Amino acid sequence: MASDGAAKMKVLILGGGGREHALAWAISASPLLTELYCAPGNAGIAEFAHCVALDHADHSAILTFCREHAIDFVVVGPEAPLVAGIVDDLTAGGIKTFGPSKAAAQLEGSKGFTKDFCRKFDIPTAAYARFGDAPSAKAHIRTCTMPIVIKADGLAAGKGVVIAQSAKEADAAITACFDGTFGAAGGELVIEEFLVGEEASFFALVDGENALALATAQDHKRVGDGDTGPNTGGMGAYSPAPIMTQELCDRVMAEIIQPTVRGMQTQGMPFRGILYAGLMITDQGPQLIEYNVRFGDPECQVLMLRLKSDMLAALLATTDGVLDRFDLRWHDDTALTVVMAAEGYPGSPTRGTEIKGLDAITDDGVIVFHAGTERIGDRILANGGRVLNVTARGGSVSEAQTRAYSAIEMIDWPGGFCRRDIGWRAVEREGSGQ
Ligand code: AMP
Repeated sequence: MASDGAAKMKVLILGGGGREHALAWAISASPLLTELYCAPGNAGIAEFAHCVALDHADHSAILTFCREHAIDFVVVGPEAPLVAGIVDDLTAGGIKTFGPSKAAAQLEGSKGFTKDFCRKFDIPTAAYARFGDAPSAKAHIRTCTMPIVIKADGLAAGKGVVIAQSAKEADAAITACFDGTFGAAGGELVIEEFLVGEEASFFALVDGENALALATAQDHKRVGDGDTGPNTGGMGAYSPAPIMTQELCDRVMAEIIQPTVRGMQTQGMPFRGILYAGLMITDQGPQLIEYNVRFGDPECQVLMLRLKSDMLAALLATTDGVLDRFDLRWHDDTALTVVMAAEGYPGSPTRGTEIKGLDAITDDGVIVFHAGTERIGDRILANGGRVLNVTARGGSVSEAQTRAYSAIEMIDWPGGFCRRDIGWRAVEREGSGQ
């Protein structure tokens, strides 16, 4: 453990979604913690942490807050402040901060950067080309077989990817991208080969030099049952992910994660933080679809439920560069989370509807992480698209699933909805004994 003789500390978490509620919940169990702050937090986090309003884009205001409140360690949840260089700014100001530098965060902040990086360091990924203007991108489309994938280069909140089935659709996506649909993120684009397989996520803590794999997890991106309908930030997740066998995890570490860690070191931008690889498991093996430089949401929720070790100590060991002396232990159980979203999500979710019945959930194997809520007096109101993450543990995926959906029955929220089949692939695999 990294806790030998370590002083007690005050921690600030940046973010206010289900991922940050789960991180806050795990960190609050650490014997190293004295006081926990979260900016902005939410109604669930406010039950055990001080929620404060801080503008994530105003790095100097955050630095001032840290100094005034004697914050010892900052944990950055979402990608935007990381890509904007918050870790560099807080670290330069003397505040220890978990997450990658601005340079290293390009792994999420620029798809073109990551594709070139993969090519240079021989990391398996879809064949691609980069374009800075619409005419040359459209000319390239004429040489491609369909479907083809078109991606805005920068951060586009998960909306910058179009899988085009025809040249016409591809042209429209290219026009939209350069027309400013994705703001600055669309100044450049990547066109890449369509990969066939099953998607999976892989997470590793990386301290610049060493990578420590987390337990496996898988999410459901589509809004509708049977994985249909528009893409979302994630409608549910479970851990472990049966598709990620030990053999496959070893391949991902050897072929994707380790070369990335070494490559980033070689380029003089060592990666420190959580590296989240979005993978396609193809017939040829795992291929990198994209990197994220923060925990997945809602995968973080199921991982935190299964983590036995001290999360705060793990984040400190990562930041201090001593992961080689660290290990993580996990509960053998399955964890599964179902996202409850506000009607209208992922388009225009209705805000302000009241959620009742949360206190009626008495199963101690269930935790409801808040993703987008606010408390007004005694009332809990929806305040976002994804609003609650009903998260359960069980001896099997089916058991965790049953517990999560039983808890959802207790929640009285006519303004919300959820998928009814979270975990279906894993349940099928369980049923077939695979
Ligand atoms: P990304 O933002 O890069 O993760 O892409 C969003 C989603 O688009 C992924 O989760 C995949 O479902 C899909 N996708 C992205 N790139 C590809 C690809 N090269 N082949 C097939 N599907 C892809």
